[in-house]
Amino acid sequence: MIKLVVNHNYASEAANIVRLFYGKQEIEIAEMEALEFDQSLFQDAEVLLQSTIEHKSGSILASSMMQTPEKTEEYNEAFERNGTKPEKQEKEAVKLSMYKLLSNSLNRTYPWGILTGIRPLKIVHELLDKGFDEEYIKGYMKENYLISNEKAELSYEIAETERKFLYPIDDKKVSIYIGIPFCPTRCHYCSFTSNSLDKAGSLVDDYLMAMLKEMNETAEFMNNKGLSVQTIYIGGGTPTSLNASQLERLLETAAELFGSEAIEFTCEAGRPDTITEDKLRVMKRYEVTRISINPQTMNDDTLKRIGRAHDTKQTIESFELARRLGFDNINMDIILGLPGEGLEHLERTLTEIGKLKPESLTIHTMAIKRASIINEKQEAAESREGVTSEMMERAAGFTRQLGMQPYYLYRQKHMAENLENVGFSKPGLECIYNIQMIEERQTNIAFGADAITKTVFNTENRIERQGNIKDIRLYISRIDEQIEKKLKLLGDLYKNS
Ligand code: SF4
Repeated sequence: MIKLVVNHNYASEAANIVRLFYGKQEIEIAEMEALEFDQSLFQDAEVLLQSTIEHKSGSILASSMMQTPEKTEEYNEAFERNGTKPEKQEKEAVKLSMYKLLSNSLNRTYPWGILTGIRPLKIVHELLDKGFDEEYIKGYMKENYLISNEKAELSYEIAETERKFLYPIDDKKVSIYIGIPFCPTRCHYCSFTSNSLDKAGSLVDDYLMAMLKEMNETAEFMNNKGLSVQTIYIGGGTPTSLNASQLERLLETAAELFGSEAIEFTCEAGRPDTITEDKLRVMKRYEVTRISINPQTMNDDTLKRIGRAHDTKQTIESFELARRLGFDNINMDIILGLPGEGLEHLERTLTEIGKLKPESLTIHTMAIKRASIINEKQEAAESREGVTSEMMERAAGFTRQLGMQPYYLYRQKHMAENLENVGFSKPGLECIYNIQMIEERQTNIAFGADAITKTVFNTENRIERQGNIKDIRLYISRIDEQIEKKLKLLGDLYKNS
């Protein structure tokens, strides 16, 4: 066990850095009032860590100390106060000091340095908004957050691409999310809101009825306020777990209510085992512009191990069928670091994807969350320090060979090697919904169980959220109350419209 003692309010920030270096080891946090080390706090610990800050004429002195049976090491640094956001400065001083101590002591660095949040691009956009140039921004990211040269380059490149779609901001332009929380079976790594059709299939029709009501009543509000829809995204779960007539009902309504001005209409067709010609034809009929077919890996043994009920052959056949039916913007998702996979498995996956030539490829890094079966069964991939990073480098290089460039990025907690998820696409075929959703400069109106509507008050730099109920039965039975809450939230933003 690791014991971490702090004399400030940023224990969780310091603990996040400790977790980077020590993975899942248990961390016990204690607070101390004085700066003296109280040895009694440290009984039973394998590693003892201390993080303190002191204020000295115009600067913050951040100190970190580590004791193990073998050694004691310290790192101290004085950070000049710059007068803005003192709390933020203190947090960063605590993180930097702890990172430098552990990095020196364990001889390890991480590509995202002290950035443990999910949206590193936010910092780049803030600096671009203030008028700083490329050189300054990359230098700032490396110096203040200790991110690697490659990640600084990647962040800047993505921010530049995103800005073509983020600006000009029009508060009356929104994006729409429609959630289908059903899947044929549950993948072992899944932590999304997903209900297997075996158990919840009988609820699908009632679910659709409730959600269509939510969509109709919200569309009426949107019309009254003069809102227009930029993008529509149907995700899940797996939207293609619906049968063709259920899917038709949904797409017909979505297209009629929101489709007239939308420049992008995505429908995930995630699991190849749910894709049929009928469903693809329905999508074509209602002018879906972009679909996603997600192999995750092109190795059949891994697919079995992670509980996906399809094989590589099915993925290839579904993709070819979609192409024959005229889909010219197809995304594929893969996951790096799946249990039992190494570089040779990735090569096989990339070779097969290379033959299919999708327009975009989203590369995820395995993240084991509490709600996943893998975590419950303690079957998580063995620690493979360095391998997932190598895989990311190889996969990113491969996307360049396919003529793609990175266009959006986000991170999650518990990702292998603290890496990232990156969307790559051919230029001009970026998923605008993904960019808007991650950068949070546009209001997103979301429908379905567990869907979160976000209203963005751009001039106040403020975001408000309203989440629907996660449980499908409760979502259905309490739909009116959720519609009311959503309209109230939207009403606050558009009260003067
Ligand atoms: S297809 Fe996606 S949402 Fe469905 S169970 Fe698998 S990981 Fe979860």
